[in-house]
Amino acid sequence: MKQLNKILIANRGEIALRIIRACKEMGIKSVLVHSTADKDSLPCRLADETVCIGSHLPKDSYLNQRAIVAAAELTGADAIHPGYGFLSENADFAEFVEEQGYIFIGPTASNIRMMGDKIAAKATMMASGVPCVPGSDGALPNDENAIIAIAKQVGFPIIIKAAAGGGGRGMRVAHTIDDLLPAVAMTKKEAMSAFGDEAVYMERYLQNPRHIEIQIIADSHGNAIHLGERDCSMQRRHQKVIEEAPAPFISQAQRDNIGVVCAKACLDMGYRGVGTFEFLYENGEFFFIEMNTRIQVEHPVTELVTGVNLIAEQIRIAEGLPLAFSQDAIAMNGHAVECRINAEHPFTLMPSAGTITHCHLPAGQGVRVDSHIYTGYQIPAYYDSLIAKIIVHAPTRQLALQKMKSALYELDIQGILTNKALHQAMFDDEAFGKGGVSIHYLGEWLAHYNQHDTGGLTANQTNPPNHTQPNHK
Ligand code: ADP
Repeated sequence: MKQLNKILIANRGEIALRIIRACKEMGIKSVLVHSTADKDSLPCRLADETVCIGSHLPKDSYLNQRAIVAAAELTGADAIHPGYGFLSENADFAEFVEEQGYIFIGPTASNIRMMGDKIAAKATMMASGVPCVPGSDGALPNDENAIIAIAKQVGFPIIIKAAAGGGGRGMRVAHTIDDLLPAVAMTKKEAMSAFGDEAVYMERYLQNPRHIEIQIIADSHGNAIHLGERDCSMQRRHQKVIEEAPAPFISQAQRDNIGVVCAKACLDMGYRGVGTFEFLYENGEFFFIEMNTRIQVEHPVTELVTGVNLIAEQIRIAEGLPLAFSQDAIAMNGHAVECRINAEHPFTLMPSAGTITHCHLPAGQGVRVDSHIYTGYQIPAYYDSLIAKIIVHAPTRQLALQKMKSALYELDIQGILTNKALHQAMFDDEAFGKGGVSIHYLGEWLAHYNQHDTGGLTANQTNPPNHTQPNHK
């Protein structure tokens, strides 16, 4: 057991701020490494210490492993928190950090490595009894006839996936036997050039699933529990836009059943830290697709319904402490919804960089905003477009949706485009309002919207209207 005195944060934006806040609450000093492009960022202002480690290019700064560890040495940090994205799921980095004598706030390098290989991950899950999408037994062979035989067994449509894939890349759907061999060849080629590993496997392509994921947390003393599920079906281009907890129409028995299986899988593989089991859910069945071995963007919805501070728990686990609560103490209280506010055109999704000339973020009972933006902030063009997360919590889903509408009405960001208008359209949408839409819903809605009229919505729609806007002299 080692009490942490100073944590280095190897990330930026809202998650850097989230970690700085957790450190301050816990009486731990924070060091933020940053690129030249982020020198005026809010997390830079709020961290106890900052170290500029390189240029705006991620490879020179946020992905620069040596510079990050050198900054830890320079500032006397005990541990490194990678946030999400960047180096958070890089097993070599986790290993390097620990070899250099620092604590990596996350799972072990071998946990990360195993889950980073989707074929190995799936085999591990099947061995622990986690339900998986039916598919090939491991990597596809080279023999074309053998591939065709496997495909016939799995059944069309089929999805070919790269073992090393990630970020929605390295996947291709084959609807008929004629598409099969070209899809395999193209996915292999793409996997080789993008990930340096041409291994691909095959799964049945589920046609109308929801995305439901289970949050787990495990310590290094043999305790692992689940914190319920999140529904993240509202996606475009495989990226989540709205998340909620609990998932609509999932019963307590279903939650308990799948949650217990995930917690057991963590124990079986000796998992440490927080993690997420991602599932596709169709016709009442869960099918594992992958495990994320890090904190996720959407973690706040789980925090609001369970009352668990996931970043603080990550830090406690890294200190070697046992979990402070058991499975029995976890309950899903009320309903939470998160909107990811991105700097982009709400309907074409074109990124929008520039300076925020005016920024008012919503607040009030049950409204949480995790954001690093402020009036005058210049959004760098080099990074992710996420600029704020609005998260609401209310006793029921209906009330949470109402609260989000109110929060979106209040949100006022000027100078750049944001996807506020898309969120507003969704919170007026009947199918989303009912709950339980599939992962294709938002993409199809956008395609339809972009082909037809704009329904009176404009990209830079501002609410509240000018005449009721507060006077910001
Ligand atoms: P990545 O690591 O690139 O995010 P995932 O395995 O998590 O890849 O899959 C990303 C997305 O691709 C899923 O959220 C889902 O939309 C789609 N997908 C993956 N596997 C299947 C499948 N077997 N059937 C249908 N859709 C799938």
